[in-house]
Amino acid sequence: MSNSNASAALPIDVAIIGGGQSALATAYFLRRVGIDYVVLDDQSAPGGAWLHTWDSLQLFSPAQWSSLPGWLMPGTSGQYPSRDDVIRYLTEYEKRYEVPVQRPVEVTSVSRRDAGLLVSTNRGDWRAKAVVSATGTWGHPYIPDYPGQGGFEGGQLHSAHYRNPEAFRGKDVLVVGGGNSGAQILAELSQVCHATWVTLEEPTFLPDDVDGRVLFERATERWKARSEGRPDPVPAGGLGDVVMVPAVRDARARGVLNSVHPFSHFTVDGVAWKDGRHTPVDAVVWCTGFRPALEHLRPLRVLNDSGRVDVVDGRAIQEPRLWLVGYGEWCGFASATLIGVMRSARLAATQINQYLNTLEESTP
Ligand code: FAD
Repeated sequence: MSNSNASAALPIDVAIIGGGQSALATAYFLRRVGIDYVVLDDQSAPGGAWLHTWDSLQLFSPAQWSSLPGWLMPGTSGQYPSRDDVIRYLTEYEKRYEVPVQRPVEVTSVSRRDAGLLVSTNRGDWRAKAVVSATGTWGHPYIPDYPGQGGFEGGQLHSAHYRNPEAFRGKDVLVVGGGNSGAQILAELSQVCHATWVTLEEPTFLPDDVDGRVLFERATERWKARSEGRPDPVPAGGLGDVVMVPAVRDARARGVLNSVHPFSHFTVDGVAWKDGRHTPVDAVVWCTGFRPALEHLRPLRVLNDSGRVDVVDGRAIQEPRLWLVGYGEWCGFASATLIGVMRSARLAATQINQYLNTLEESTP
């Protein structure tokens, strides 16, 4: 499908931008209330960010705790699903619920037009009554600034683009970042090269019997307490704490799960530490997280100083025809997880349905 200008924009009730897990969860609830919608995804296949994670990535929750609404993720061979299990599940999920996805389609901008929102893409435009942005964070990896970084001649790679350890065999590598990505990539690299784990604070390792399920239960308790104005329950424990998946437990048994505090600056061929020591380094793998991929929303002038959007329950305050799903706590409790996004997706679909109904009632 392609049309070249705004006047030829295709009318649709709801355009969902992005075709990952958050989009599919939202699609499930929109479909249930019979709303006319389209999903616009710039990838050439289903799976969203999962298409780009490293080969050995393991989820930190078992299959039934990593499911989207309506259909439990089928059991997997390992205790924790692999990235391939997730991609297979999301692919089947799209078929099962006949999700109308147009791909590869890149949404270049969302702007106000007459009574609706103009969703401009590299393959034509859509005129939507409401828009759901579900573009995730993978497209916006975050790398902190370190003095001398520009002059460092070694390799630098963000975890978003790390696939496997082969390119690092026999080298001196820094793995920077103390979350699940850092722990899993350190565990893998430490088997083929000299890997040093650099973290801002001591990483928090969860007990071996605590995985994403317990984290989600704790996060739910915390969410309930906050919504009822009670103090945070103990123990804390958030989705950033390291789940002891088998590969990370194995690294602990090998005695490599030790981290050091950050270096002071880069040199041409390595890093200098605060005590004056120098370490030659061949490469750095940045496991330093992501920022929301929201550039397409810039024409709406809704982005705040932190690159997010001010929302109430996922709905943009400055543009009530715009909802954001899946970017993490700021737009929905545990929304950046397969099991957690259901709550945000259902709320967005309910609000959109109410909005479209009022629109219809007020249209002569
Ligand atoms: P994405 O999966 O990123 O999908 C967004 C889609 O939108 C992508 O296809 C993207 O290409 C597309 N897009 C972006 N911009 C545009 C545009 N302008 N136009 C069109 N399309 C666009 N979650 C769990 O539940 N359990 C886990 O165990 C778990 N482990 C994780 C481990 C790691 C290392 C990481 C990084 C994440 C993990 N997550 C886990 C989180 C999960 O992978 C992400 O939160 C999830 O992929 C977010 O889904 P999403 O649909 O919001 O975004």
